[in-house]
Amino acid sequence: MPDSVTHLAAVVIGGGPAGLMVAEQLSKAGIVVDLYDAMPTVGRKFLRAGIGGLNLTHNEDWQDFISRYGDKAATLRPALDSFTATDLRSWAAALGVDTFVGSSGRVFPIEKKAAPLLRRWLSRLRDNGVRIHSRHRWLGWNEAGQLRIQGPDRTLTINADMTFFALGGGSWSALGSDGQWLAKFRARGIECAAFRPSNCGFEYAWPAELKSQFSGSPLKSIAVSVCDSKGLGWRQRGDAVIASYGIEGGPVYGISAPMRDAIEQHGACTMYWDLDPDRSIEKLQQAIAKRRPKDSIANILRKQCGLNGNKLALFKALTSKAQMTDLDGIPALIKRLPQTFTQTRGVDEAISTDGGICFTAVDDKLMLKKRPNTYCVGEMLDWEAPTGGYLLSACFATAVWAANAAIARQK
Ligand SMILES: Cc1cc2nc3c(=O)[nH]c(=O)nc-3n(C[C@H](O)[C@H](O)[C@H](O)COP(=O)(O)OP(=O)(O)OC[C@H]3O[C@@H](n4cnc5c(N)ncnc54)[C@H](O)[C@@H]3O)c2cc1C
Repeated sequence: MPDSVTHLAAVVIGGGPAGLMVAEQLSKAGIVVDLYDAMPTVGRKFLRAGIGGLNLTHNEDWQDFISRYGDKAATLRPALDSFTATDLRSWAAALGVDTFVGSSGRVFPIEKKAAPLLRRWLSRLRDNGVRIHSRHRWLGWNEAGQLRIQGPDRTLTINADMTFFALGGGSWSALGSDGQWLAKFRARGIECAAFRPSNCGFEYAWPAELKSQFSGSPLKSIAVSVCDSKGLGWRQRGDAVIASYGIEGGPVYGISAPMRDAIEQHGACTMYWDLDPDRSIEKLQQAIAKRRPKDSIANILRKQCGLNGNKLALFKALTSKAQMTDLDGIPALIKRLPQTFTQTRGVDEAISTDGGICFTAVDDKLMLKKRPNTYCVGEMLDWEAPTGGYLLSACFATAVWAANAAIARQK
């Protein structure tokens, strides 16, 4: 017996920030929305982002903001212009969540949590009539092109006037975004780029002692730099973290895209540590000149150069015996200590992913060229950006852009 087919006005698949924002825009326009998510609750990655304070967006010159999306900046620009960082802050404020600008320009909710915002947002969506179906996994399309969705006790076959996919990227699969959708899109001839880790750590085999003593410890106030394939220098300051597997943390994520690309192209990438970004080579030389005659190298590194704990261990791990005893060469090494990596950390542990639905597969309103009235939004599209609020910003903006295009198309 053929399945019974349900006909719905608007179906949103994926209940992360992008899918929820689509549901909000459509429901505000009076469209009945059914939102399906595979997990028992929606917004799990969004809630996880709240643990780091929920960096919603970034307060900076708009041109600079747009440039963070690299070679996808021009493609994403119309969407980003349609829902700017200011719009995002006003949207949060309308939900009763005020935001503030941190010292680096990052924008956070005052409470630095995602849960209150999500709670109020979901309540508003329910008030707008959005029907949220958790534990409903999209399985693919059937031969007739209808959506197949596996619920807790039956498989649904659905036709919709408009369909939005907001299935997320391919990292942190335990939170729902497992990337399994990619093969289903590819099988339908929709161009997708393979997932690659973005904002990721890098593997390195530390000496056993360093690993046991300093795994998980922050390397405070350092800078890291790398040169990309076009010869452009990338530099990030902040606190990196020595992980048991290698390195991670904000500044590392900030230069992870060119590092990943270099590893892909050449099999290795050399990154440079600046262990004392506030002092020049000359200042370090002057400090070393003030040493006492009997000071050992270890003491000079500690007292004159300020290398203690994990910084000292890192310096020792990455220098030869000859370099360690060459006092003249030490300041330059502290300022530019090379470390070569050959492996990114796996994609599932990355903060976000590059890859997904290629922009060649969608039109300028993010509608799939091969499937009219079917849109893709959020991280599942093939763009990447550094951390700093740029990820959520583009997820929200692409959702607003595509939803409003679909509403306009209906009229
Ligand atoms: C630890 C961590 C911290 C972060 N912090 C920040 C931050 O501070 N600022 C920032 O800008 N970004 C941050 N991000 C990134 C940000 O959370 C993501 O970019 C964003 O959540 C992506 O939104 P999305 O709606 O596109 O996808 P997701 O949030 O990944 O949602 C996708 C949804 O689709 C559902 N789904 C997947 N497959 C199916 C299927 N087959 N059927 C039905 N449902 C399905 C999933 O269950 C999930 O709910 C962080 C990420 C991580 C991992």
